[in-house]
Amino acid sequence: LERDAICRKKHNIHVSGYNVPSPLQSFDELKSRYKCPSYLLRNLKELGFREPTPIQRQAIPVLLHDRECFACAPTGSGKTFAFVCPMLIKLKGPENGGVRAVILCHTRELTAQTYRECKKLAKGKKFRIKLMTKHLARNADFSKFPCDILISTPLRLRLAIKRKKVDLSRVEHLVLDESDKLFEPELFKQIDSVIKACSNPSIIRSLFSATLPDFVEDRARELMHDAVRVIVGRKNM
Ligand code: ADP
Ligand code: MG
Repeated sequence: LERDAICRKKHNIHVSGYNVPSPLQSFDELKSRYKCPSYLLRNLKELGFREPTPIQRQAIPVLLHDRECFACAPTGSGKTFAFVCPMLIKLKGPENGGVRAVILCHTRELTAQTYRECKKLAKGKKFRIKLMTKHLARNADFSKFPCDILISTPLRLRLAIKRKKVDLSRVEHLVLDESDKLFEPELFKQIDSVIKACSNPSIIRSLFSATLPDFVEDRARELMHDAVRVIVGRKNM
């Protein structure tokens, strides 16, 4: 569509993949196109998010159409909301029976930051959002307490998986944030065991990154089949 092309050009959004969903013209379309619940629209307003950032314009519709997404946009361009927004809309509300979404970040600082952002965005809805601490990784039995969204480093999550204290077979959304960092060779084993543990065949995986070196593209192609690739600006800014 002409309108989509104009929007992408204006915001320097480059896409590849088959049948790419239309970018958002505004946050109002979250409501009109995707029936976004009112708590989320309210939180956006409170946080002062008026216009979607370029990555949000394109990645949110891609994920809301249940397509895998492979996204690259500069640091500070709002990638967290680009994956948390569709996750919250898709999960609808809290549910018992196991972890339904996992966000992996390469450092503890980043997990804590992502956790805080998630809590703010989910305010008003009783999602159980858990930050995987060292204590939880070593001692918790996740089958004993409810958790909708789990945010962890690969190392800690792998520890909990090895202890057989977390069941990831129901996970519907797996986000690899800063995937260029996550795909460094020293994290390979951890990432691999998390991906294997998330065994739900209808899982939607997504990768977010500020740079897109070839090894990330290669891993993405291995992991995903029908992904939409979204790049804002240039690949390696
Ligand atoms: P990235 O992960 O791309 O580095 P973040 O998701 O951490 O970026 O977002 C950077 C900052 O921008 C955060 O403070 C976030 O709350 C804010 N932000 C995100 N989306 C918007 C928006 N649409 N409008 C205004 N501020 C936003
Ligand atoms: Mg980020």
